[in-house]
Amino acid sequence: RKFIFVTGGVMSGLGKGITAASTGRLLANAGFDVTAVKIDPYLNVDAGTMNPFEHGEVYVLKDGGEVDLDLGNYERFLDIDMTFDHNVTTGKVYQNIIEKERAGDYLGKTVQIIPHITDDIKRRVREAAAGSDICIVEVGGTVGDIEGMPYLEALRQFAHEEDDEDILFAHVTLVPYSKNGEQKTKPTQHSVKELRSIGLQPDILVGRCEDKLHPDVKEKIALFCDVPTDAVFSNPDVEDIYHVPLMVEDEGLDEYVMEHLELDDEALPEEQR
Ligand code: ADP
Repeated sequence: RKFIFVTGGVMSGLGKGITAASTGRLLANAGFDVTAVKIDPYLNVDAGTMNPFEHGEVYVLKDGGEVDLDLGNYERFLDIDMTFDHNVTTGKVYQNIIEKERAGDYLGKTVQIIPHITDDIKRRVREAAAGSDICIVEVGGTVGDIEGMPYLEALRQFAHEEDDEDILFAHVTLVPYSKNGEQKTKPTQHSVKELRSIGLQPDILVGRCEDKLHPDVKEKIALFCDVPTDAVFSNPDVEDIYHVPLMVEDEGLDEYVMEHLELDDEALPEEQR
């Protein structure tokens, strides 16, 4: 099974979820069974009690799970039904660990973020991925947020436990225009530096920008963030988010991802090749 971990840099609301869902759509078009996990690093157990003015609409799944709207994007883009288990929140993880601690399950051991919380995160991701060929795991929030740290550590361990060709780290960042009309790469450089400081090296970078990234901007990002130039992709503003899959396909993102994950026709059942 393959895993694509999607993190975001610079600021939230960049389009990380849409980028992840679009990549998933293209992989599903290629014939793979794709599912997704959304990690929400807040302490709420679910989105049901959260103010929609502050947080956006609550999305209700078929099994009654009240979750973040992002899961709605995944259901629509991937044409799948998700369950409450596809949404991992800090509230759920801690509630489980604290209940087990009260029940005496840890036999007097000190209960800690590493390994108890990180192990629970890894278990939840693996269980939600069961039955799929590819699981996209989106980490909500921005790299550097305190709330996100246990998740990034869990994903680092996860990648360490799996084979290299089964894991891809994608980092979505903002490439803003300066007043004199230049696309600026510094925020991207800083967020990748932050990722690397916690032991994560992105395999691909996706720059959200008003327009497509200029070739020399891609080159600069590649050099400073230590990825090949063809691993840097644009996700420019579009009128309609359902155009994003076409745009990232045009950039060659799906092909690059499949190559990195060693997903060729051989990986598909014979009748789908
Ligand atoms: P994040 O996951 O980074 O918080 P989302 O994927 O939820 O961000 O997207 C944030 C907002 O930006 C949504 O309203 C979404 O429709 C919009 N958006 C995402 N990608 C694009 C794009 N390429 N062009 C225009 N709007 C976009």
